[in-house]
Amino acid sequence: MTATPEGALEQAALAGIHRFAIPTPFAVGRVNCYLIEDEPLTLVDTGPNSGKALDELGSQLAAHGHSINDLELLIVTHQHIDHLGLAEIIVQHSGAEVAAIGLAADRLANFSEDAEREDAFAVGLMLRNGIPEEMALALQSVSRSFRGWGSRVNVTRPLADGEPIAFRDRTLRALHRPGHSPSDTVFWDEERKILIAADHLIAHISSNPLITRSLDGSDERPQALVTYIESMRKTREMPAEIVLSGHGDPIVDHVALIDDRIAKHERRKEKIYRLIAERPRTGFEIAQAIWKNVAVTQAFLTLSEVIGHADLLVNEGRVREIDEKDVIRYEASA
Ligand SMILES: [Zn+2]
Repeated sequence: MTATPEGALEQAALAGIHRFAIPTPFAVGRVNCYLIEDEPLTLVDTGPNSGKALDELGSQLAAHGHSINDLELLIVTHQHIDHLGLAEIIVQHSGAEVAAIGLAADRLANFSEDAEREDAFAVGLMLRNGIPEEMALALQSVSRSFRGWGSRVNVTRPLADGEPIAFRDRTLRALHRPGHSPSDTVFWDEERKILIAADHLIAHISSNPLITRSLDGSDERPQALVTYIESMRKTREMPAEIVLSGHGDPIVDHVALIDDRIAKHERRKEKIYRLIAERPRTGFEIAQAIWKNVAVTQAFLTLSEVIGHADLLVNEGRVREIDEKDVIRYEASA
């Protein structure tokens, strides 16, 4: 057993997996990419589309005797721009194959159009949940201004859930674990008990189950938190010793972390239930009651949290949605 995050990084390095923490312009800070020194020579995630990230990636590869041109396989863990922004540039330089969950291939190939549609979906969702129009539109333009850090990319190796990727010295099994995003995929080395989990699990912050259009293109709003909790329960059953995250340090006790996260969601759900039981409220009113001003500055994030927990309550039959003049209000069931 590996007791500490530092020990876990050392053990991963002995297995040929090296963490590169690449700078991003986002509040989350650096993003972790992983070099897998094997055949094919592989990079898991890329960092955002910026000169600074590209320089840093180049110098960290050089420290291991490689260059971007040497990469043979790029694995994309999920659709967020801090993880895939350099994908197209890396492919142009290296000709690397690109592996990702097949369900996300269209989305990754049509990045700009998809981002535009995603923003429109988010604005509609915010308005339906009581967020004032000018605030929703302001957030849409912030999201547009971030788009340049992303990239389109052609997935040349679409993966099915459970599909193995064979290397010279190891096998990684791709496991779809949606929730934080619909395309979240983790990569499991059963022999070494190492799980490359990206943003599915992060030690120091709870992964936001952001409400995102489903990958099948349907207009129905997905229940992101419900899906995320199901995914965490699956990961909980895995005998992983080291979980390598998309941000921050490795996790050496994923069962305890998952139990803690699920308990926190349970407490938040009860807090939201009490607010709804007091009187019917919109998602935005609930977010303001809990997060005050943050419900304004981070309106979509906090709304995603509220809707996620309200979904749990609706599924339990304790809360229902009432539609009032195009705005949804949550009300306790009698
Ligand atoms: Zn992410």
